[in-house]
Amino acid sequence: MPDLPRLVCASANPDKVAEMALVLEGIVELLPRPPGLAEVVEDADDLEGNARLKAVAVCAAGGAPAISDDTGLEVDALAGAPGVHSARYAGAEASYADNVEKLLFELERVGAATAEDRTARFRTVVMVVWPDGSELSAQGTVEGAIAEYPKGAGGFGYDSIFVPTEGDGRSFGEMGDEKHVISHRGRALRALAEALGAAATGPRRA
Ligand code: IMP
Repeated sequence: MPDLPRLVCASANPDKVAEMALVLEGIVELLPRPPGLAEVVEDADDLEGNARLKAVAVCAAGGAPAISDDTGLEVDALAGAPGVHSARYAGAEASYADNVEKLLFELERVGAATAEDRTARFRTVVMVVWPDGSELSAQGTVEGAIAEYPKGAGGFGYDSIFVPTEGDGRSFGEMGDEKHVISHRGRALRALAEALGAAATGPRRA
C-alpha cells in the first residue's frame, strides 16, 4: 500500500476542515494548519485567487504542500451574490446566522418568492500548492434553491437554507454525511484527489 500524499490543511474554518477530513479519508493524510498562523486576508477577486492565497501562505509557513478550499454561494436573483464575499456578506464580523438573515432579506427585497426565483449554487475551488510554487486545483458545484426559512441544524454556513436540486427536498442542514455525496466540496475534493493520483504517477509527487 503506497503512502498517502501528506498535505497541510490551509483552512482555518473548523467546519470546513471536518468536511475535508471526511471526504479525503484514506486518500490524503491531512495535517493540521500550523498553530498560531495568522488568518490569511482573502482579498482576491475570485474563489481561485483566494484558494491560492491561503494555500501559498500555509505552504510557505510550513515548507510543505498545503491544500486550501474557497467556497461561494451564488444566488441568481442577486446577480451571483454573495459569491466570493459569502463569509462576510453581512459584515466583517458576521456570524453564519447574520449571513443567512441578510440573504433571506435580500431575496425578499427583490421579490424572489418561488423556488424558481431563488435558484443558486455552491461553488468550491480546492487547490494544492507545493514549496516549489507548482499548484493543482479543481472545482465542484451543486445546483439548488434558497429556502424561505432555515431548516435543519446540521452542517454550517448557509446549509440550512440551501436545498439541492438533486436531493429530496431537504436542505443541506437537514442531511448528515449524505451532503458530501453531492456537495460542491465533496465534488471538488474528489476531482482534486483524482488529479493528484494522476500527478503522483508522473514526475510530480505529493
Ligand atoms: P470561505 O470559503 O472561507 O471564504 O467561506 C465562505 C463562506 O461560505 C463560509 O463562511 C460559510 O458561511 C459559507 N460556506 C462555505 N462552505 C459552505 C458549505 O459547505 N455549506 C454552507 N455554507 C458554506
